Amino acid sequence: MENRQSERTDGEPPAPVAATDRHISAVLNGLPAMVGYWDRELRNRLANDAYVGWVGRTPEQVRGLHMRDVVGEDAYRANLPYLAGVLEGRPQLFGKTIVNASGQTRQAQISYMPDVKDGSVQGFFVLVTDITDRVLAERREHRDVSRYRALASGVPSVFVLLFDADLRYIIAEGQELAAFGHTPADLEGRTIHEVLSPELAAELEPRYRAALAGEEVQWKRKIGQRTFRLTARPVDSEDGISAGMVVAVDITDRLQREQTWAALHEIATAVARSAAPLDISARVAAILQRLFAVDSAAVVRFTGSRSARIIAMAPRLPAEVDRNQTFEPGDRSAAAAVAFTGKPAIVAYSPEGGQVGEQLFAGGFRTGAAAPIRVHGELWGAIVLTSRTKDGVSGSMLDRLAEFAELVEIAIGNTEAWELLEHRASTDALTGLFNRRAFESRLARELEAADTSGAPLSLVLLDIDRFKNVNDSFGHPAGDEVLIEVAARLRETSRKGEVLARLGGEEFVWMLPGPTAGSVSYTHLDVYKRQERARRSIAAAPFAVVGAVTISAGVCELADAGKAHLMDRADQALYRAKRYGRNSTVRYRSGS
Ligand code: GH3
Ligand code: MG
Ligand code: MG
Repeated sequence: MENRQSERTDGEPPAPVAATDRHISAVLNGLPAMVGYWDRELRNRLANDAYVGWVGRTPEQVRGLHMRDVVGEDAYRANLPYLAGVLEGRPQLFGKTIVNASGQTRQAQISYMPDVKDGSVQGFFVLVTDITDRVLAERREHRDVSRYRALASGVPSVFVLLFDADLRYIIAEGQELAAFGHTPADLEGRTIHEVLSPELAAELEPRYRAALAGEEVQWKRKIGQRTFRLTARPVDSEDGISAGMVVAVDITDRLQREQTWAALHEIATAVARSAAPLDISARVAAILQRLFAVDSAAVVRFTGSRSARIIAMAPRLPAEVDRNQTFEPGDRSAAAAVAFTGKPAIVAYSPEGGQVGEQLFAGGFRTGAAAPIRVHGELWGAIVLTSRTKDGVSGSMLDRLAEFAELVEIAIGNTEAWELLEHRASTDALTGLFNRRAFESRLARELEAADTSGAPLSLVLLDIDRFKNVNDSFGHPAGDEVLIEVAARLRETSRKGEVLARLGGEEFVWMLPGPTAGSVSYTHLDVYKRQERARRSIAAAPFAVVGAVTISAGVCELADAGKAHLMDRADQALYRAKRYGRNSTVRYRSGS
């Protein structure tokens, strides 16, 4: 600063702008180059707009200033050898990377021509030619451009960037470049600092430099909806000009496929652990939401051609949406569209979208996509994605969803088959009650629970009286009808949480877990009384075909018999009821 002041006052004052100077300026400004004139003292005498415009000033502002104050200390120092040469009368020609006021860099060729008058150097002309394009063209030639271009544009899901030691893109090519938000034209010839955001350029610079230094660097980046794997590596050439190359490969599909398989594996594991269909559906909904990164996802089971039940929704079913849905023709809901057409569908929800569309709209959803789930060739239901934004679900998402539906229906189909099998395996086919196997496992479970909670547990063994006679007199099918009717009357007497089973033949069991310990309402007489009611319900009304049917029963409390003897003791009581003349109930008491 103090230099500028002192130089201004110490040195010759700047000459006023003469008419000839103006004329010269006009000519200079017409030249497609940066032109200037500096005197022996390195003060500016002339400059065209292009020359000083580069440093963000006008010719008038620069006139009379020392070079150091115009180009900055660093550039000035770098120029010193050339300045010394030209002031000794020798023309200087050198190449340089110049940086302008806005940080843009260009490849320049600079020439200093001495202005010699009367054998002494008065000053010198500066001519700066922007040779960026030429340099680029040369570098491209070295790089066998056509090969790169052909390679980069021929491979799908890829883009390739070739850059030089200035981190300037020499080539940018590839089908995926647009995803990156660029065209070859806006990248080529520019440095990363000129075309990329400062953050991105700062992040990339060390990777590019590492590539220029001979390393291979790899990283991943999400660009829009796609994920790319990028690799920066050095490019060798005979002339040794260092360059680097970035190859970006769109790995979105591969990642999605991997995620899909991981999700299916998770579902398959749940199926293998024989989780109930409801659990599987809840898991599928949660996985869908995560996999497709949507606001919510659901598994919908069609319960008729025009009705459905949302069996699971992640993260939750909004209060505005009914779990049970009825589709009207013209309903604008994704699941309705699948129910009507059997095909994947995308819909926009609106208040005019019919009952279901309306509810989903009220629940905050704007778009939905659904794909059919078929089990054994039947339209079972749909998996649904919903979004709170207008373009939250896309066509490509729908394709993936349909694919996923095809994979997941195997799991859903299997759990339903498994459930059916489980149901068959635990049910007595004739009466629909639990069979012995199911009863035994439930008894074991209840005994264990009673063990820890101390809650009472009662068992009633029941046997039809003189059933052999029924068979003998009316035939086996009539006997079967009696078994069915007895089961029905017992079922009417039993309550939720109790277990009724047919142990075999005409023998039934009724397990009654008592209220939890401490409850005052429970007395040991309660179970006896309830069994008496059951007995009377059978004895009171005659059966079709066979007339009167009676049963005998033995009641036993866990507290009276203990775990190991509960069944035995109930059987003892039943035996006694038979001995007392049948059509009666006997309660086992310890010591009796
Ligand atoms: P009690 O009063 O002493 O129990 O006499 P009961 O005749 O009922 O006893 P018993 O155990 O001697 O006879 C049971 C009969 O139940 C024998 C068999 O013919 C019949 N039975 C067993 N299973 C079935 C079945 O599935 N259907 C039919 N119709 N009869 C069956
Ligand atoms: Mg019997
Ligand atoms: Mg019997």
